[in-house]
Amino acid sequence: MSDYPAYQYSVFLKGSRDEQLVIRADNWEEFMELKKNADVIISKVETKPTQNNLSAGVCSIHNVPLIEKNGKFGVFYSHAGVVNGKTVYCQGKGYKGV
Ligand SMILES: [Zn+2]
Repeated sequence: MSDYPAYQYSVFLKGSRDEQLVIRADNWEEFMELKKNADVIISKVETKPTQNNLSAGVCSIHNVPLIEKNGKFGVFYSHAGVVNGKTVYCQGKGYKGV
């Protein structure tokens, strides 16, 4: 494991520099999973530029969009972040395992 994620991807939403989406992952599988989520966000942004769908919402702690996930126990919302070089996840209540 390196100190920095092996894979990074970033895109500016709405064709501007107002909002930037950044993905960082340590392995390809995780990267593709995050990229898939990013594509969902991008398609939502592009198809509904004015409608603010709060079913997924925005994390009030980190002020980033929460991504809908289909977990073992149903749908939940989370987003990824990087703390001390490690990818961590937050469900709107702070990062887990930090
Ligand atoms: Zn958060």
